[in-house]
Amino acid sequence: MKKAVFPGSFDPITLGHLDIITRGLPLFDEIIVAIGVNAEKKYMFTLEERKKFLEETFKDAPNIKIVDYTGLTIELCERMDAAFILRGLRNPADFEFEKAIAHTNRKLSKIETVFLLTSTNTSYISSSIVRDVIRNGGDYTLLVPEAVRTK
Ligand code: ADP
Repeated sequence: MKKAVFPGSFDPITLGHLDIITRGLPLFDEIIVAIGVNAEKKYMFTLEERKKFLEETFKDAPNIKIVDYTGLTIELCERMDAAFILRGLRNPADFEFEKAIAHTNRKLSKIETVFLLTSTNTSYISSSIVRDVIRNGGDYTLLVPEAVRTK
């Protein structure tokens, strides 16, 4: 069974994440959406909220699993028996950042990272911009899936 882990903070999930996950589905038998928990990081949404948004968004998708984790993503992959990491690329900054991580992961394990290029209509969306819009009282609903809109 071909499994991929799609790791991220999902603070909150955006239409950009949704695009990558949806387009990744035909490539794998299962996608494990993995919420990284970093004690050093300050989140806008609690882990429970971030998880709820993801569970609600994918409630009708049997081949998408939601988990949370601490530690290395490759160790999560090994625990979940996933041979692939799925990532999205928006711009050259994403590429440089992802390249170093993917090379490191290849050095430390056999896990391959599969990259999907962002769609033109979601390429500008990031969780940090969504958080800024929310903080400043703007209309963030155009940038996120339904589950976050009704938060
Ligand atoms: P982190 O902040 O921990 O890197 P994110 O939640 O920001 O995690 O992102 C998880 C993954 O989703 C990354 O691979 C990122 O490049 C991808 N991603 C986020 N937004 C978009 C987007 N608009 N288009 C394509 N990929 C995206």
